Amino acid sequence: MFRCAWCMRKIAENQPLYAINVKFAEGIDNSDREGEIVQIYLSSRKTSVPMIVTTADSEAKKNGQDGLFTLCSRECGDKMKKSLEKEMDTFKSFSDAE
Ligand SMILES: [Zn+2]
Repeated sequence: MFRCAWCMRKIAENQPLYAINVKFAEGIDNSDREGEIVQIYLSSRKTSVPMIVTTADSEAKKNGQDGLFTLCSRECGDKMKKSLEKEMDTFKSFSDAE
């Protein structure tokens, strides 16, 4: 069961999922937690949000993505992206998942 990284609502399995891929900034490494859901602190929101760590052998990792935020809607995704723009110490880049 995934949770929306913005509003923390549970996302049902039959519900369409919106996701944002992220690449960590230099020096940030969560590779010992790959495949797990970790809590990432967002200083602009003063709270931690859940993020899935990309596994080393996944297609996403080959494309240079280190993690994935799951979101319940495009609206939450847009708010999340605005917030991520303020978190450049943690994230080098981010993009909509296909
Ligand atoms: Zn949401």
